Amino acid sequence: MKKTAGLLVAFSCILAAQAQRQGDPKLSEYYEPVPPVVTPGKTSADAPSDAIVLFSGKDFSSWKADRGTDIKWTIADGAMTVTGGTGGITTKEGFGDCQLHIEWRTPAVVKGDGQGRGNSGIFLMGKYELQVLDNYNNKTYVNGQAGSIYKQLVPLVNACRPPGEWQTYDVIFTAPRFYENGILKSPARVTVFQNGILVQNNRELWGGTEYIGSPEYKKHGDKEPISLQDHGNPVSYRNIWIRPM
Ligand code: MG
Repeated sequence: MKKTAGLLVAFSCILAAQAQRQGDPKLSEYYEPVPPVVTPGKTSADAPSDAIVLFSGKDFSSWKADRGTDIKWTIADGAMTVTGGTGGITTKEGFGDCQLHIEWRTPAVVKGDGQGRGNSGIFLMGKYELQVLDNYNNKTYVNGQAGSIYKQLVPLVNACRPPGEWQTYDVIFTAPRFYENGILKSPARVTVFQNGILVQNNRELWGGTEYIGSPEYKKHGDKEPISLQDHGNPVSYRNIWIRPM
């Protein structure tokens, strides 16, 4: 009996779908809610109209020093540069799910090798490091090269430009969710384009970045600031903007 009823339901659904296809096309068109109009920048690197500009080349007004002093990094020619040994910098505002555009440049004068060459990093939510490194003919562990989520996710390709050239990251980040009791509800996810080339495709993060040991999730807020790393090398950044989602 049950089987017959099930078949009847399935059959009437098919009939209804067929009837709809033969009927009014307007039945499958809707007009609300309307996606807001966003004016694109002149190039895709320019901040669109609804972006929060975190660095436009002029000042550190959106940033604070991790060591609680004045920021000791320098600004010249529209770019900020790490002053090694003075500590990282962090946005004043917190962000969760977002689209982030950031441009970076490792030093033209090559010094050091492996992780010691043009190392910095973008810590999403202050915890999940998207590695910045000069990996142009520079060997290191692959889960620590440019485009990696440090010590977690190896990039699909090495999309590095030569040292001294500007490079871009376009990141789509979904923040992790936690239950009240701190247990992970859903992990963070990330998609990254380096210089327009897909290097991370909607990958799941394993937890916060750890230098030693396995990554681990620890409950944090829905919105947390973004940090840029001082790893001792004079890496530069410019044109940083974000679209919270
Ligand atoms: Mg780093």
